Amino acid sequence: MIITENFEIAQKFTDLMLTAYSSENIKGRSGVHRSSIIDCPLTLYYAETGEAEQHFDENNVGIWLLGELCHIAFTKYFDAREKVFNLAGIKVTIDAIYNNKFPVELKTTRKKIYKREDLLDDWIHQLSIGMAVMESDVGYLIVMNIITFKLQVYEFHTTKEEREKILEHSLWTIIDISNAIKKRNPNLLEPKYEKCKTCSFRPIKGVDKKNCLFYRRPN
Ligand code: SF4
Repeated sequence: MIITENFEIAQKFTDLMLTAYSSENIKGRSGVHRSSIIDCPLTLYYAETGEAEQHFDENNVGIWLLGELCHIAFTKYFDAREKVFNLAGIKVTIDAIYNNKFPVELKTTRKKIYKREDLLDDWIHQLSIGMAVMESDVGYLIVMNIITFKLQVYEFHTTKEEREKILEHSLWTIIDISNAIKKRNPNLLEPKYEKCKTCSFRPIKGVDKKNCLFYRRPN
């Protein structure tokens, strides 16, 4: 018997799974979603205009699979799962709802989270938008570390004024992106370079796809 590691087929399987996942969960979901407010604004621009194409590498698969499995297992017994709210045309999907009124978001991570200050801004932003659309002053963030298997829950509290500010900022973000799409001008958008490292629109050596012209190599 001969056993060899086949890098080419690994890439093909990766593309097969993640491209299908992306088209079902990102492109296949009609309309604009909350993630577009949080991600680099160019990702929605490219998704809508096709001026760059997504590519996934094999390093993305495990993280994605674990995240998906954790979501299914954790949210199974909550009052509601994947509930969609509408924010002026933007779809906000809440992972789960606790006690019929409090939004719950789940994040899987390899990072060591010891305290509130270690939480990623994106996670905080995501739950804050969820609390704002649900008009809930309390929300929960579950953080599952996939290396140590430790589970933590952070309880968020926001005021009405804070929630209104979040909604307003979300709407302006989408208006700006829509304007750039309409004018077919990506230069109107401010790239979030800190996301380039893992972005599916980044240029990848040996991959012949239209990629993002604004990509910046991480320091
Ligand atoms: S490669 Fe960087 S600038 Fe381009 S879409 Fe991705 S995150 Fe934005």
